Amino acid sequence: MLPLDQPVTMLALEVISGTTEGKRRFYPTGYLAGANRRWFRPWPVRTSRPIIAVRGFPGFIAATRGMRALVLTDQGIEYRADYPDPEPGPGEVRIRVLFAGICDTDLQLAAGYMGFRGVPGHEFVGVAEGGPLQGKTVVSEINCACGRCAYCARGWPNHCPHRSVLGILNHDGAFADYICVPQVNLHALPDEIPAELGVFVEPLAAAFEIGGQIDIQPGIRTLVLGDGKLGYLIAQVLRLQGAEVTVLGRHPHKLARFQALGFPTQPAGTDSGELFDVVVDCTGSPTGLAEAVQRVRPRGTVVLKTTTAQSLDWNPAPVVINEITIVGSRCGPFRPAIAALASGQIEVRSLIEQVFPLEQGVQAFTAAARTGAGKILLAMGGSHSTSA
Ligand SMILES: [Zn+2]
Ligand SMILES: [Zn+2]
Repeated sequence: MLPLDQPVTMLALEVISGTTEGKRRFYPTGYLAGANRRWFRPWPVRTSRPIIAVRGFPGFIAATRGMRALVLTDQGIEYRADYPDPEPGPGEVRIRVLFAGICDTDLQLAAGYMGFRGVPGHEFVGVAEGGPLQGKTVVSEINCACGRCAYCARGWPNHCPHRSVLGILNHDGAFADYICVPQVNLHALPDEIPAELGVFVEPLAAAFEIGGQIDIQPGIRTLVLGDGKLGYLIAQVLRLQGAEVTVLGRHPHKLARFQALGFPTQPAGTDSGELFDVVVDCTGSPTGLAEAVQRVRPRGTVVLKTTTAQSLDWNPAPVVINEITIVGSRCGPFRPAIAALASGQIEVRSLIEQVFPLEQGVQAFTAAARTGAGKILLAMGGSHSTSA
């Protein structure tokens, strides 16, 4: 499965423990550049027994021990203690993961979205093991762009056609002890932000993306469809930017969380007949778009945040008749998200429902998939008590 036009380094290794002790072999390893960028791993660590240690020939030092990871296979999510330990490629830095958050995208991946196989996880905080931020607590943008194409040149690395995406597309993610990411993707996490809250930077950046796509005028009337975690972040960000925000959701206990922050709420199923300038669909449901279109005024804007593994059966005629603009919205800028968290302008701690040690990752996925679940975190450093 190795494309022949890709550079591959052959490494000569000698096994220094285990039943194959003393054996000398050449292993293909290293970094594959280009569109299909990902690690090609030495094949011996794919067996059920990890190589405990290998000694390189002169000029090369290798430490291919297994690490703990959650792996998405055809059978679903599995916990493995012997997943190959990643080595950084050119321009990459290895991160020792501290905390990672399970998000709805991860549940969608497990349901078949994007056909991803490997280690999921894209909302995380860790400690950089190299580069200018070595030793610092960091968060990472998730799109790994080529830096050479027309989209990258326009400043749109998130749309680089050659990109990989951490834990989503052609790049192992953060539900593991270690992850390697491009140095340029890293941001230091300020001391004001407790490490476990760093997992919210990525989804909060996605909330800030909306303001970069549409004009949020002061007093603009917006409806956030969905009372989940992303809705909670988006409502707060839109209000910070001057919008009037109403939230519609189906879980009374979650709507109460919005009410506590002063947001007017509407229970799902009710329709006041009010039409909004902007409706943001973050329901996570395939029916969210149709409902958003129903609740936006003519010539209004629907912002679509929901991605699902399912496709829609839906008649878009109202979009034409009411001349509605639909804006797809994905990843966003990290800087304002970090600044808003550091200044305490955005409340996130109440979202954390439970923190699982990595070994209990399969149970953590089950907990995250429960209807109405709060944010489930994985702690790589061992057991942590729930901070919520
Ligand atoms: Zn996510
Ligand atoms: Zn590119």
